Amino acid sequence: MRKLLAGLVAVLSLSLITAQLSVAAVTPGTKCSKAGATSSYNGKKYTCVKSGKKLLWNKGVALPKRAPIITPKTTSGEQPKVTATPSPTINLKTNDGDAPIRPEGCGIGTFYYRINEGSMERSFFPDENFTKVDSRSESTFHPIRVKAFKSVRERFLSNRIIQARIQNNISPTFPAELLAVLQKQLIENIAFWQEYFPTGSTVQATYFTGDDPEFADNSKLTMSGPLEPYFLEELKRFKKYNCSLGSGVSGAHLVNKGPNAGQSGYWFGANSSPQVTYWAPGYQPHELTHSVQALIVKDVFSFTYPVNFFEGGAEFFGLAMGFTNLGWYSDEVDKRIIEKDLNEFIMDIKSTNDVIKMLEITEVNSGPISGGSSVPNAMRWAYTMGNLLWEWVTAEYGYEAYWNTLKSINTTRSYEQSIQKVLGVSKSELYKNAAPYILFQINSALGKDWKNSWKKGS
Ligand SMILES: [Zn+2]
Repeated sequence: MRKLLAGLVAVLSLSLITAQLSVAAVTPGTKCSKAGATSSYNGKKYTCVKSGKKLLWNKGVALPKRAPIITPKTTSGEQPKVTATPSPTINLKTNDGDAPIRPEGCGIGTFYYRINEGSMERSFFPDENFTKVDSRSESTFHPIRVKAFKSVRERFLSNRIIQARIQNNISPTFPAELLAVLQKQLIENIAFWQEYFPTGSTVQATYFTGDDPEFADNSKLTMSGPLEPYFLEELKRFKKYNCSLGSGVSGAHLVNKGPNAGQSGYWFGANSSPQVTYWAPGYQPHELTHSVQALIVKDVFSFTYPVNFFEGGAEFFGLAMGFTNLGWYSDEVDKRIIEKDLNEFIMDIKSTNDVIKMLEITEVNSGPISGGSSVPNAMRWAYTMGNLLWEWVTAEYGYEAYWNTLKSINTTRSYEQSIQKVLGVSKSELYKNAAPYILFQINSALGKDWKNSWKKGS
């Protein structure tokens, strides 16, 4: 709770975590389990070596210290344009027509994304290859979804100027390809929110991996606190396909102490190499949406919003900003409904009354985000219920409805009063009005022919 409030920290994609782990400090000369294994701790990298018949941690070598890279801000009044940013190219394989990746141990209903020749590409198991486009027509999707997605994308495509300065804090172990796409996304997303990131503002961006516990910890000036040991340990675990944190873990906040206090901060923890770390296009914009929420609400640390409002908003705007076409956005929303139904079940959702009950359940800020089973299912469902609710509101009331509601909280200091003021209905009327649409989307997702692909996976 404290961390959530203090930092608006968001944690995504944790659906398969069940165990709670803790991080252990490395002491030279103590036992280790696998020759050649390495561990970074307290500024040194230790290697597990054979000493006689025993396996012991060696004395370690100092890790290189990398000074923060400061992105220079263009002077003389000329603003850099997003379109001028060179597009990073990730070639997982150099030829086109790669076979889609079948994850092991994570189910098989997983999408993979990459940037290739400047464009986003997706691989999904029913597809033959990585593809740049989605062939489904708009009429395949509910008109509410079409309208809501378009209202975000249109703004995304028209807001191309970045005024804020970005200060990067990058650990030496962070994977270069992932860094390139995240940095490109950050520039685009700051441009999207340009009214909240004016000239003279700074966004702190911190990137590290599970190999950098001390980096994560020393990033207190850009993070609101050290990353929980649980996440670092998960990021460090070797699995060819790390299901639990396959795309890393990320968060956003306003820096609340030190010389950067008051600035927006964003951090991303990637898996340690050689794990395959996938790019999840929704993470970066989701987190930056949290930064904007925190910039808008005065004294944000003292106000508790319903979880389905702040996480739902971040999820809706984040996913709509993150995906270049309607079909992929829609699949991502559906996928989250399916995953939650399978792994984080709360109740059957068969009627509009059930939807209303779920909306009420997912309002509650019911616990800290600390990983594992201590994260309540209601917290996970809040992302999706809020996504569907604010998708509907955005289509019905326009793009600004969410943001006007948020701004109104500065005067009302009440979520319910702000709903009434901005949307002209009570919160319970809002839930009642949106429920048929939300029910339709939940039914639709759970009826997808690829739903069972998660079950089939081991
Ligand atoms: Zn979030």
